[in-house]
Amino acid sequence: MTPGKIVCVGRNYAAHATELGNAVPERPMLFFKPPSAVIGPGEPIMLPAASQHVEFEAEIGVVVGRRLRRASLAEAEAAIGGFACVNDVTARDLQKLDGQWGRAKGFDTFCPVGVPILPGVDWQSLEIVSRLNGEERQRAIASDMVFGIPDLLAYISGVMTLEPGDLVATGTPAGTGRLADGDLIEVEIPGVGVLANPVLQEAE
Ligand code: MG
Repeated sequence: MTPGKIVCVGRNYAAHATELGNAVPERPMLFFKPPSAVIGPGEPIMLPAASQHVEFEAEIGVVVGRRLRRASLAEAEAAIGGFACVNDVTARDLQKLDGQWGRAKGFDTFCPVGVPILPGVDWQSLEIVSRLNGEERQRAIASDMVFGIPDLLAYISGVMTLEPGDLVATGTPAGTGRLADGDLIEVEIPGVGVLANPVLQEAE
């Protein structure tokens, strides 16, 4: 899938904000990943030579199903077109160095996205899990988000029109960690799917 835009939310689980030494935000913290960063299941995440510290971030992705502009919470919830596993791959060293996150979050292959599914369950019951080389590293439930999915879509739609096919990455829980050449990183939303990607070091 190639979304028109990818809107991401930072620090949307309190425990992850705390593990990075940040306060829980008072309003959703938005940033973007470029559509050129998207890869599919099984495709390799390429560690760029420019970074010495790249981390995985397992996230629940929401695919927008209908156009939203200044939406109410009810309109926002009704516009959920599907859920997809997302890995918000981040060059943590460059994120700190630059202040702006465009480079750290925007390298080619830094946005693995799984196949979107619309399971017949309430969004609050969805879980997000990551496994690094088969070992569980993250597990959280969507009801623990600081800002829930309808709140996020409504808030974003008050800034920019959300179009069908746009992707919203709703933030990562605690437990992010470093990726190395040869790793296999998996993101799972039980009932939605598993997104597995190998990790390769880019040549200098
Ligand atoms: Mg993230």
